[in-house]
Amino acid sequence: MMDKKPNDKFEKTEFFMTSFSSLIKSVSARMDSSKTQKNTSMSFTPNAQEFWNTIDPKLRVRLMNNIFCPSCKGETGIGNVSGSVEKGNLILTGVCTKCGESVARLVEGQ
Ligand SMILES: [Zn+2]
Repeated sequence: MMDKKPNDKFEKTEFFMTSFSSLIKSVSARMDSSKTQKNTSMSFTPNAQEFWNTIDPKLRVRLMNNIFCPSCKGETGIGNVSGSVEKGNLILTGVCTKCGESVARLVEGQ
């Protein structure tokens, strides 16, 4: 009677460990693919990509290195950028390159 419960618990732990390690595997696989892409760790919607392509490359760099981070209380860069278009404006969302907090920037459409 007393021996059954720990066994039961062990099985559950083992199951958890198995699913955990497969999760780690899938995460590290994703990290590998982002490593090969390096500078293109940006996911834009087709609309946002079109918008982004119309922006001068020099301005793009400035936009991405001139983000206000509420956590750092100053200008910072944006990483892991995602872009979408809302109401004709480009919304860039990502993480602060200094502290990792979520930051966002709106680029007004013409
Ligand atoms: Zn920050």
